[in-house]
Amino acid sequence: MGDARSCRSDCKRIGFIGLGLMGAPMAMNLLKAGQILHCYDLMSDRLTPLQRAGAIIASDIAEIMEITDVTILSLPNLRSVQEVTETMLQNTRAGHVIINTSTVTTSLSKKLDSSCKEKGVTYFDSPVSGGVKGAELGTLTFIVGGDKEQYEQIKPILSYMGRDIFYVGAIGVASIIKLINQLLFFTGVLSVCEAVYLANKADMDKKTVFEVVARGSGNSYALQTRLNDFILADNYEPGCSVNLALKDIELLLAEAANLGIELPGVSMVKKRLLAAKILGISEKEISLIASYFEDVVKQNP
Ligand code: NAD
Repeated sequence: MGDARSCRSDCKRIGFIGLGLMGAPMAMNLLKAGQILHCYDLMSDRLTPLQRAGAIIASDIAEIMEITDVTILSLPNLRSVQEVTETMLQNTRAGHVIINTSTVTTSLSKKLDSSCKEKGVTYFDSPVSGGVKGAELGTLTFIVGGDKEQYEQIKPILSYMGRDIFYVGAIGVASIIKLINQLLFFTGVLSVCEAVYLANKADMDKKTVFEVVARGSGNSYALQTRLNDFILADNYEPGCSVNLALKDIELLLAEAANLGIELPGVSMVKKRLLAAKILGISEKEISLIASYFEDVVKQNP
């Protein structure tokens, strides 16, 4: 159960639900900043290191809602975000603030926002970019949509976990910006994998290729991180898994369907990711596809 640890008049009791690859290091940074943190996750082993670092472990979501003023979510998919938010709203009081850092669609963001409004709860659509490394270093980029005045009050909390914090306007805008970021990144990574495949077949030295194109118009964040940090280093840890990429690609295609448009580049990325899954590398870092490229293309799922 919650503890009676004192909270200064200017401090907020913060709840954190979803302490996975992203949530755990984000929560650690809040603890390092001296915040009083109440954590809940379905998998209790995820909570042990946080408890050791000073977090208070909640036995369920109702307990989080009873004790905290602000709750941060870092959940894996649309269903978990929807279920957790519904449970929170069944146990809430007016005035609570929810900051959802999970990647979701604009339609879910708007739906959750309107359910929150009915209960007098403030909802922020606040996806993040920067990966696990950014979460650990506290250098995440936060893209925030929601009430502008209340945003000023949550900004200090976000600044403990991130470096660049962008307020982008109404609910839903942040979700679409995050998905556009994912479109550019994942199509970029698949292009890097294809380029590496070409370089290998042409018997090129990949390091030379990288040094030259990194100085040319072929340079990109995908090239810098995937070719340099993973492929040339021949080290694929920890990275972004094929499954995680596939989840975001599905969200992009759902968003496109809502808008009545097609995203052919994204559909191609989906085919490559599904093929990688068939080849048994779904839990591996996405740039490993470069090593399997010929087989990935042959799969044609
Ligand atoms: P993860 O699977 O590592 O962690 C999710 C956590 O949520 C797990 O610990 C799981 O047990 C918990 N959980 C699931 N359902 C729950 C429920 N009903 N109640 C309580 N806890 C529950 O996922 P992650 O990689 O940390 O990603 C979290 C979010 O951040 C996702 O929306 C993802 O798209 C986004 N994101 C991830 C990355 C990345 O590089 N991993 C980067 C940017 C954004």
